[in-house]
Amino acid sequence: QAKRLGRNTFRFYSATMHEKIRERRLIEKELRQAIEENQLSLVYQPKADMKGQQILGLEALVRWNHPELGWISPGTFIPIAEETGLIHPLGKWLLHSVCVQNRSWQEKGLPPIPMAVNLSPYEIRQEKIVEHVQEVLAETGLEPQWLELEITEGSLLEDSFATLKTLEQLKSLGIRIAIDDFGTGYSSLAYINRFPIDALKIDKSFVDKIVLGAKDAKLVDAIIGIANIMDLTVIAEGVEKEEQLKLLESFGCHQFQGYFFSRPLPADAMEEMLRQHNNKPLTGS
Ligand code: C2E
Ligand code: MG
Ligand code: MG
Ligand code: MG
Repeated sequence: QAKRLGRNTFRFYSATMHEKIRERRLIEKELRQAIEENQLSLVYQPKADMKGQQILGLEALVRWNHPELGWISPGTFIPIAEETGLIHPLGKWLLHSVCVQNRSWQEKGLPPIPMAVNLSPYEIRQEKIVEHVQEVLAETGLEPQWLELEITEGSLLEDSFATLKTLEQLKSLGIRIAIDDFGTGYSSLAYINRFPIDALKIDKSFVDKIVLGAKDAKLVDAIIGIANIMDLTVIAEGVEKEEQLKLLESFGCHQFQGYFFSRPLPADAMEEMLRQHNNKPLTGS
C-alpha cells in the first residue's frame, strides 16, 4: 500500500514507526529510573455495596508522574514493562507497597479490608511469584486474607496447567484470587471453575452494554447467576450510572466499583474516605 502511494507515504509510515520505537526506548529507560527513584505511586478505588454504605475492598492502581513528561498512563507503560522484563521489579514494588499500606491502615485502627493488586500474566508465568508473595507477606506482616491478586481472564488461557499449579500454591498461602475483566477472554465459567478463585470481576464493557440492550442484559444476568451458584464474589467494574447499579443488583451482583461511587484516590484521600464512610454512605456522583 505504501509503495503504491509513492515515496512520501512510505517515508511517513517509516517515520511514525521510528518515532514509536524511540518513544518505547525512552519509556523503558525512564521507567527503569522511575522504579529506582520512587516516581511511581498508587491510587486506590473502593469496591462498595449497593448503597455505598460499606467499603468491601480496595483495588490498587499504579500511577506514574514523570518530572518532564507528566502523567503516563498504565495502559502505555505496563505493556512496555511486560516486554522489557521491567514488570518484575515493578510488580515487586507494587505488591510490597500495597501490603505496607494495608498494614499501616490496620495499625491506625481502620477496619481491615482486602486490598487487590493487579498481576500481569508475565508475573504469573514466572516461577518465583509464589516465593515473592510469601516473602512480601512475611516482610510486611500482613495477614494473607487481606491480600487479593487480580489476574485477567486471558492469563488463564495460556499455559493453563502451569498457571493452575501456581494459583493453587498462591491460594494455599491464604490469599484471595480474583478474575479481572471477565467476559473479554472468550472463556467459559465452566473453564474458570477449575481454578481456585474467590471472585469474578465483570468487565466494564458488559456493564456498559446492559443498559443498551435486553440481550446483553440477559447474558450478564446469566453470568452473575452462575457465578453465584459457584459461590464466587461478583464485582461489577466501571459502574458509572445508577441505572447500571440497579440492574446489576437485580441480577444478584453485590459489589460495585466505578466512578459512580468513587474514582481511584491517592492514599491520603482514601484514608479519609475509609474513616468517614465507615458505615456511612458514599455520596455517589
Ligand atoms: P483494570 O485492572 O481493569 O483496572 C480498571 C481500570 O478502569 C482502571 O484504569 C480504573 O481507573 C478504570 N476505571 C474504574 N472505574 C471506572 C469507571 O467508572 N469508568 C471508567 N471509564 N474507568 C474506570 P487504569 O488505572 O488506567 O488502569 C488500566 C489498566 O492498567 C488496569 O485495568 C490494569 O490492567 C492495568 N494496571 C493498572 N495498575 C496496574 C498495576 O499496578 N499492575 C498491573 N500489572 N497492571 C495495572
Ligand atoms: Mg484490576
Ligand atoms: Mg478490571
Ligand atoms: Mg478492565
